[in-house]
Amino acid sequence: MMQPLVLIVEDEAPLQELLTYNLQRAGFDVEQAFDGDQATGLVAERTPDLILLDWMLPHTSGIELCRQFRRKSETANVPIIMLTARAEESDRLRGLNTGADDYVTKPFSVEELVARMRAVLRRVRPAFAEELLTFADLTMDLAAHRVLRGDHEVHLSPTEFRLLRQLLERPGRVFSRDQLLDLVWGHDQDVELRTVDATIRRLRRALNDGGRTDLLRTVRAAGYALDHVEAQKHTV
Ligand code: CA
Repeated sequence: MMQPLVLIVEDEAPLQELLTYNLQRAGFDVEQAFDGDQATGLVAERTPDLILLDWMLPHTSGIELCRQFRRKSETANVPIIMLTARAEESDRLRGLNTGADDYVTKPFSVEELVARMRAVLRRVRPAFAEELLTFADLTMDLAAHRVLRGDHEVHLSPTEFRLLRQLLERPGRVFSRDQLLDLVWGHDQDVELRTVDATIRRLRRALNDGGRTDLLRTVRAAGYALDHVEAQKHTV
């Protein structure tokens, strides 16, 4: 999966929810921590690709936490963006040499924050810079959550979008129905294999609207792939 994992360390629940909602929409995986202990625990389980760190936290401050992350080998190179309440705090923070990569002052727009996050990720992990997935005349804009076939917008349900995204990340690769079930619907959901087939059918219909070339290859007894389907026009 190419979705970067972001750990949000923020004690204000409404801001946590707002950030989580918007960052997930922007294509990030999100974990939430409300204080330093939680953050340290989550980081120990799974190293995030980026940390959003509030300065004013209960118990351990964001500054102290930032220094702790920098000292640990697992997190020494994880980019950290600090969130601060006011411009003066932000200026003071810069002078403290905490090891943070960037500072964003509250209140901030989500667009601005996402732009800063992408800039930081581009610097350290060029693979995450990719916001567009393309194959043939198909384009998926992850940031805008849009799919185009040529100039035509393709309207997909959230499930169809996730399914297409999986296929678009590895064009040509055949995914079994079991794999797609896990990747798109998750392990613990009570979804049957034929749901995958039904969703593929709807996705194919949406993509081929107007008699366009079929890009979804059905591999008998194996699964599905996004591929150049030779000399085949799909009839809707
Ligand atoms: Ca706070």
